[in-house]
This record gives sequence, structure tokens and C-alpha cells, in this order.
Amino acid sequence: MEGIALFPWQAQAWRQLEAYLRLARLSQALLITGPSGLGKGQLAQRFARTLLCQNQSACGQCSACRLLEAGNHPDYLTLIPETGKELTIESIRDLIEKLALKPHYGLRRVAVIHACERMNLAAANCFLKTLEEPALGTVIVALSALPSRLPATIRSRCQHVRLVAPPLAVSVPWLEHQGFAKEKAELALLQNGRAPLAARAWLHSDLPEKRCKFLESWIQLLAGQKDPVLFARDWSDEPLEHITFWLLTLVADLARLAMGLRDSLLNPDQNARLHALAKKLNLTRLLAFWQRLLEVREVLDSQLNQALLLESLLLASLKLKV
Ligand SMILES: [Zn+2]
Repeated sequence: MEGIALFPWQAQAWRQLEAYLRLARLSQALLITGPSGLGKGQLAQRFARTLLCQNQSACGQCSACRLLEAGNHPDYLTLIPETGKELTIESIRDLIEKLALKPHYGLRRVAVIHACERMNLAAANCFLKTLEEPALGTVIVALSALPSRLPATIRSRCQHVRLVAPPLAVSVPWLEHQGFAKEKAELALLQNGRAPLAARAWLHSDLPEKRCKFLESWIQLLAGQKDPVLFARDWSDEPLEHITFWLLTLVADLARLAMGLRDSLLNPDQNARLHALAKKLNLTRLLAFWQRLLEVREVLDSQLNQALLLESLLLASLKLKV
């Protein structure tokens, strides 16, 4: 079945999943972890297809495969939390009840739960109970980019499959193959935790352009050519999450350069300018600013006055100079 591709960096995880099946060692619950942008959802979906296929191979020919392709296989369930929302006990209970029904086709029913760390306490307890009393013929594939937020009792009852960001030697050619220039591909990966799908989405968005504009303005600010209050006003509509991230990458690069380290920059396209700028900045203040940015990142979800926060970050930037 061509419907769901296996990405090159998923080969090892896929071998692990196939081995569970081949050796009949698949438990009721799998936990697939790894940062966003590595295709956890696609991997889970592909595995679900293999589990549900009447030929156990995602053959694309049998009726189960055809139903999956059409998106209406009755034995395939998914649960995706709404953006920014928790997974509630009602949604978990509903899923578990449906999962317990007799399979319409084949021998199994499969449920895929996205962002499972977003289960609230009641939902997690309900889920745990299901794991303690596994029902025959059911497989739950839970996905998480933040597994440390899951209760240890849940983690320990799942078979763990870990996806890790591939080296640039794998991901750069993958992006190049899709028509992106090498330098752009590299930058996109460095700006997105080396996660190829996140890098690709970034390249298709307006973020590369915005990032360049922001960097330009920030360097001008430090050179005394920009007013911090007007600067803050110009960027007041941009999510502070983006601005904090750009500043974190800039400060990380400047601190590396100030310490005499010239490689592994997160903004390699700005190498020369950042190198010149680093000579004029105070390392201790850079590290203090880095700390401040990390603190801001922690409270981004809360109801803060974003405009004030942005202004305070820009004013703090002015103090970086020797
Ligand atoms: Zn099939």
C-alpha cells in the first residue's frame, strides 16, 4: 500500500514493530515517542494498517485495506485532542468502550491516541485501568512528544518505540529530494530541532521570511538604529513563542561565538554578522538573558501581557553590549 510512506529515519522503529508482530510479542499497548515532526502519526497509522490487513501486510488489496484507505474501517479508532485542550475521561472511556466491541473484520481492533500526555488525571487513571485489564484482540497505540508528562505507571505498561531526529546526513538529502536547496534545508532543520517534517512545514510557511526580518531588526536594535518601543509595536501581532525562539537561537549562537566556538550554529546563514556582533557583547549578560528567555518560554501558555513582555525582552537585549 502506497498510502502511507515510511520515512527513512523510521526504519529502525519499523523493524522493532515488525519484530513484535513476527515474534507474537505485541502487547496490548504501544507507546511511540519522539519530538514533533518525525511522523509518529504516520508510523502508527501504517502499523495499524498492518495489524488490520487481512493478509497482515498492508497489502492494499483486501477489503480491510480498502476500508482503511477510504478512512472508514470500523475497527480503526483514533483520538486526537483539540488544540490546546486536555484529553478528558469521557473521550478515553468512549474510546475504550468502542475498542472493546467485537472486530467487524479480522481479529483485532486498533486505537491510536495522539498527544496522550494531554490526558488529565481522571483520563489517565481510566486509561491505566484498561492497561491493567487488557481485552483480547485490542491494540492501543499511544503517541507522545512529551512522555515524561505521562504517569510512570502508564509508561511502564506500554511497549516503548522511540523515534529520534535523524542526523543531517539523512534529513538534508530527504529535503533536497523534495526540491529545497541544501543551505535552506540545513537551516530549516537547525531551526526545527532537526525534525524533518517540521522543517518541511516551516519551509512552506512564512516563518523563514519573518525570521529574517526579525533578525535584521534585532541586530539594528543592538546597533542603536532602532527604537525598542516601535520595534515591539511592529511585532506585537507575532506569537511571542516565535520571538522567544528566535531570540533563544540568536543568544545561543552569540554565546558560542563569544566563547570562541564557531561551529554548530543554529543560524548558520548569519555567521559573519553574528561573529562581528559577538565581539561587542558581554558573555555574562548573554547567559543571563538566555536564562530570562527560558523563563519566558515556560510561562508562554499563561495569560500574560504579551506586548509588555516583548518590550521588556527588547529592552533587556539593549543591555547585552559591553
Ligand atoms: Zn490488506
